[in-house]
Amino acid sequence: MSETNRPSEEPLVFVDEANSDSTFAMQLMRPSWRIMIIDDDPDVHSATMFALGNLEIQHRPLSFLHAHSAAEARDILSKEADIAVILLDVVMEQQDAGLNLVNYVRKNLGLNDVRIILRTGQPGYAPEIDAIRDFDINDYKTKSELTRTKLYTAVTSAIRSYEQICAITANQRGLEFIVSASNELMSQNGLSHFCECVLSQMSTLLERPLDAFVCTFKGDVLSFTEENHIHCLATSGMFSNLNDQNQFNEKLDQAIIHTALREGNHTYEGNRAALIFSDNALNHFCIFFQTNTVINALEQRLIGVFCSNITVGFNNVSLTSSLHRYAYFDPLTGLANRLKLLQTLNETLLSASKDRSVLSLIDIDHFAETNDALGHQFGDALLCAVAKRLNANFGSSCHIARVGGDTFSVLGHENQVSPTNITAIFSEPFEVEKQEVQLTSTIGLIRLENYQGGSAEVLKDTNIALKRAKSLQRSSYSYFTLDMGVEIRERVRMMHALRAAFENEKLFVVYQPQVDMRDQKAVGAEALLRWKTGDGEFVPPDQFIPIAEYSGLIIDIGEWVLRSACFELVHLHKLGFTEFKMAVNVSQAQFNHPLFLQSLERALRDTKAPAHCLELEITESMAMTDPNVLIESLSHIKKLGPQISIDDFGTGFSSLSHLQKLNVDKLKIDRAFVNEIRDANSDGSIAKMIIQLSQSLNISVIAEGVETEQQAKTLLQYGCHLAQGYFYAKPKTLGDLHEWLHLNSVATNSI
Ligand code: C2E
Ligand code: CA
Ligand code: CA
Repeated sequence: MSETNRPSEEPLVFVDEANSDSTFAMQLMRPSWRIMIIDDDPDVHSATMFALGNLEIQHRPLSFLHAHSAAEARDILSKEADIAVILLDVVMEQQDAGLNLVNYVRKNLGLNDVRIILRTGQPGYAPEIDAIRDFDINDYKTKSELTRTKLYTAVTSAIRSYEQICAITANQRGLEFIVSASNELMSQNGLSHFCECVLSQMSTLLERPLDAFVCTFKGDVLSFTEENHIHCLATSGMFSNLNDQNQFNEKLDQAIIHTALREGNHTYEGNRAALIFSDNALNHFCIFFQTNTVINALEQRLIGVFCSNITVGFNNVSLTSSLHRYAYFDPLTGLANRLKLLQTLNETLLSASKDRSVLSLIDIDHFAETNDALGHQFGDALLCAVAKRLNANFGSSCHIARVGGDTFSVLGHENQVSPTNITAIFSEPFEVEKQEVQLTSTIGLIRLENYQGGSAEVLKDTNIALKRAKSLQRSSYSYFTLDMGVEIRERVRMMHALRAAFENEKLFVVYQPQVDMRDQKAVGAEALLRWKTGDGEFVPPDQFIPIAEYSGLIIDIGEWVLRSACFELVHLHKLGFTEFKMAVNVSQAQFNHPLFLQSLERALRDTKAPAHCLELEITESMAMTDPNVLIESLSHIKKLGPQISIDDFGTGFSSLSHLQKLNVDKLKIDRAFVNEIRDANSDGSIAKMIIQLSQSLNISVIAEGVETEQQAKTLLQYGCHLAQGYFYAKPKTLGDLHEWLHLNSVATNSI
């Protein structure tokens, strides 16, 4: 025996037998070391008991198991667990009975932790050194050597090493458990799930049932005073199924939690523990538990390791739940967002309630204007007010979401989600920042009954219905019908095809000559865009221009047309047509684009086109929108040199005073009015009126869509000299235009 294991370091402590109650209690709290005596001599049993009976080792009492033969020993050992030390007689029935038993214990029963002290009556029966090593035998003593003190020393030393071995084994098992538990914890996605999992794993780790809970704290943790300060996230044992806070407080002595929080440490008091955690967001959590036995140092160490995984878990859980919040909820209104709506829609589409469900999209009318006029903060408050009212009216039975800036959705039973019910919530004004705001909404709806597509399609189609409602009239509603879908999908398909065509340079510009009807001389041309698809078909501009406008593609395409037309203008001037004018269509989207003026300037500069020979055609309907803005933009454009003509004149509702203010250069009589010039009964009175108007305003005038000689003559007669139409020339490719111009000028010159 080495010096470090000297018995003098271990005080002999005798348990106070008089206080048997507390002894019992202590035994409950602190389990005894179990010593097994295997000897065929009954005296050895009693002598050993006498020597060790009332001792405590490492603050734990000893208890004894007795076997009088190897066979009896095998039987007991196969049933009893946690035996710390075996005091084994080497020679029993046979000379090698002791060693055979050791072999059996280690190999057959697989009991590797138990410490074995061999005893023999006579010297000379000592086992081989190999056997001592192989069988992991702690000690070999002759019975005569074993005085009380020596026996005590041997047993103490054996118990210490048993404890160490147990610790190592437990550590290993605990660590293995912790690793696998951590994996499980990481996969828990809700905070309460996670906490329940923590409690059950803590109980598994300590191998006993726990009265436990995981809690967080309402308010400031350090001013932890009020009784209802604790908010439980998960409970077990006697803390589960408690009805109210009072019952909970009765069961709990909170002092240990106060201590843990104050000191910022995990705190153990006998059989109770308060473990504290905080996550990245500085939320504090506490795991409290109590159990039937003391939580020993080894267990505390294991709990410590486990806790570091729990900390990671708490962060993970709060991270995933905040990610979840961000992913599925709108931070402004707290309503579900589009993604969440899609999820709910998915569930609805699969459920029995599908057939009676309706999805609505509710768009606040003129929200952008309100936002611009009163500020974003006001706009936000307004959206929150709408969200609140939607919640109050539909929240209990329907799913409400905010799917876009000023677009909300309500999904629910058809009896509830109806235009009438939705419109009703806008009947009263909303109070925002002490102002009353009266809102209206436009609604798109879809019945899910018989709907074939998935959630994304449902949302798209409802949007189509909403767009349709908007295009009809603000503050109206529209239910989705299948033909709407077909139409819109076709437009989307076309949009992609158009973009590809533009990128692959499959668009080109044709030029339709404009002539002076008096001498039939070409005075200019209108640039018109053409799209020839891969299979050789022409898509009419009336179809694809609106799509280009709608998708914003018109900005790039329009700029390209403008530059092409300017190049061609310069080219024609170089060819000698020095007064030739080039008309280019400018759509509203282009015109309103903040960079339009710059792109115009750049086109003129880059191509060196004579600006006064460029004519921009804007439509009359455009001329009608926001006159002041238009007047200002037109004046900027005119400063750069180009002329302005109003296309399709007569179809809109321009007022005369308005026209004067716009300071335009030319009116283009719409084809429809020219078309009315057919015979004596239909003499094109509107065309005539427009011509007169232009004369009185001193604006030049051109007729478009002139197809017949009669039309040309009539228009000339009314005083309109300029024309564009099939009667004179169809739109031409560049090559054809040049040829036509040469022929035409020769012919003209020869007249
Ligand atoms: P628009 O500006 O009113 O163009 C005149 C349209 O009338 C052209 O149709 C032209 O081919 C057609 N046209 C000319 N003479 C006659 C005729 O005697 N009889 C008949 N029935 N039609 C005639 P197109 O080229 O199909 O263009 C249709 C519309 O597409 C244009 O109407 C214009 O609004 C738009 N568009 C064409 N090119 C462009 C462009 O480059 N940019 C923009 N923004 N719009 C364009
Ligand atoms: Ca035009
Ligand atoms: Ca026109």
